[in-house]
Amino acid sequence: MAPEKKISSMFANRFWETKPLESLNSEEWEALCDGCGKCCLNKIEDEETGKVFLTRIACRLFSDESCLCNDYEHRNDHVPECIKLTPTTIKENAYWLPSTCAYKLLYEKKQLPVWHPLLTGSKETVHRAGISIQGSTISEKSVSEDDWENFIILEQK
Ligand code: SF4
Ligand code: SF4
Repeated sequence: MAPEKKISSMFANRFWETKPLESLNSEEWEALCDGCGKCCLNKIEDEETGKVFLTRIACRLFSDESCLCNDYEHRNDHVPECIKLTPTTIKENAYWLPSTCAYKLLYEKKQLPVWHPLLTGSKETVHRAGISIQGSTISEKSVSEDDWENFIILEQK
């Protein structure tokens, strides 16, 4: 497919292996996102232990079908609390990101997983590998915050 060819040819230089996060341009930074959607899930943080639990309750702007934000470019207009990941903010947010998140992996000096779109050339491989949350979420619009703990999921590592 055309888009798949584009990913692999655009980033044939494997920039993520040689450039530090703070040196990436915006196109490279965005390409690191694998499209898993897990950062769009609501979390519960245990105040005593600091442990973070993922729920399958997704942000109101998330599309369960496409596994994408419905208005990524203007997301903060709709969801002011949406956290923008940058080379600066990754430091304070890595603790709650899923273990498979490319930003977290590179911040921790780890390798990208074999199913990552930058390695496979296909945006579909995150779904085929069973890593994404496509087709498995419930919108926060339909669940009371008091019930979130009933929707905790185990993160696939
Ligand atoms: S968790 Fe990380 S890799 Fe997955 S969608 Fe969010 S930013 Fe992208
Ligand atoms: S606003 Fe968009 S990117 Fe931010 S959490 Fe919601 S769905 Fe995800």
